[in-house]
Amino acid sequence: MPDLATVLQQSLDNLEQMHLRRTLKPVRRDDAAHIIKGGKKLVSFACNNYLGLTHHPAIKEAALKALEEYGTGSGASRLVSGNILPYRELEERLARIKGTDAALVFGSGYLANVGIIPALIKKEDFILMDEYVHASLIDGILFSGAKWLRFSHNDMGDLEKQLLRHRNRHRHCLIVTDGVFSMDGDIAPLDKISALAKRFDCWTMTDDAHGLGVLAKGHGSRKLFGDDVHIDIQMGTLSKAAGAYGGYVCGSHTLIEYLQNTARSLIYSTALPPVVIATGIAALDLILKNPEWCARPLQKATLFTRTLGLPDPESPIVPLILGEAETAVKAALKLEQRGFLVAPIRPPTVPAGTSRLRFAFSAAHEDEDILRMAEVVAEEGWAHR
Ligand SMILES: *Cc1c(COP(=O)(O)O)cnc(C)c1O
Repeated sequence: MPDLATVLQQSLDNLEQMHLRRTLKPVRRDDAAHIIKGGKKLVSFACNNYLGLTHHPAIKEAALKALEEYGTGSGASRLVSGNILPYRELEERLARIKGTDAALVFGSGYLANVGIIPALIKKEDFILMDEYVHASLIDGILFSGAKWLRFSHNDMGDLEKQLLRHRNRHRHCLIVTDGVFSMDGDIAPLDKISALAKRFDCWTMTDDAHGLGVLAKGHGSRKLFGDDVHIDIQMGTLSKAAGAYGGYVCGSHTLIEYLQNTARSLIYSTALPPVVIATGIAALDLILKNPEWCARPLQKATLFTRTLGLPDPESPIVPLILGEAETAVKAALKLEQRGFLVAPIRPPTVPAGTSRLRFAFSAAHEDEDILRMAEVVAEEGWAHR
């Protein structure tokens, strides 16, 4: 029998052959817009640092203050050693920014998704998810043990068809979607989804990891729609535009109290370090006070797409679909040689044959860097496939 290392090496070699092997590359970051890699300073379009808040002086100051005041680690789960002080402030701000009764902070967005869904949805229940939802939602859905099906991306006809066919065979039904799709940059039609949910007696959940801080004056994707558009479970993360860390869910008092009692990834995982919580608070304060700054990432993305004659983007995420994994990897390498860090996104993150360059625009980007990068993209013909 071959030993463990031999078996694993074979898998790694297969990935390599398919241009799907991933490696962790050492980099350094000393400002919000650049990455230093192999001694070379690159403008980064690979970070989700949409507002450049990772290096904001007011936020760094808040973090230092919390470090002095509370120390480093938090010691135990929130339910065991006590709910350290700044959590309440952070959750109060999250509920305010999302317009809900209450909020609950988890260790990360991933932990939030794998905790929330199994707490709410059981074997007798049913989940319909958009085919492009984030991997952490899929893992949460698998953890729940419920029956699930995918509906075609943003296709309300397909969602309705599946509800007609399956809804009445199950107890509860949850419809799950990203607010902003992380690899495509488009937005879910939350008005239509919430109307279908009402008609078919379903609950709704959005993952707005890429909406907070950048859409609807920073409030996120739900606020792009009217106040009658109700989403039961609004999940997101503080690791992207907020430049901090930690996942969250916003909703009714009852939902939050129920999740405090039942979400295993909250109960059995240590609370966030106080510094991280303070960073999140300072970031949300800046977001609430600076709607013009929150509009910038989309303006930067629009500068890029208009320069290239592409359709206007819906979010600061712009994909250029190139096809094969190898093509995307080579394109990213070429951009790197010209001074730009752009993520090549390959299967299994995206479907086979749709490997792409994924550009994430930030308020911290200089217009001239964006224009220079657009020039490279135009030269290579990547925008016209
Ligand atoms: C990044 C991301 C997550 C995970 O959030 P973390 O805080 O990084 O764990 C979840 N959902 C979506 C859509 C994401 O893009």
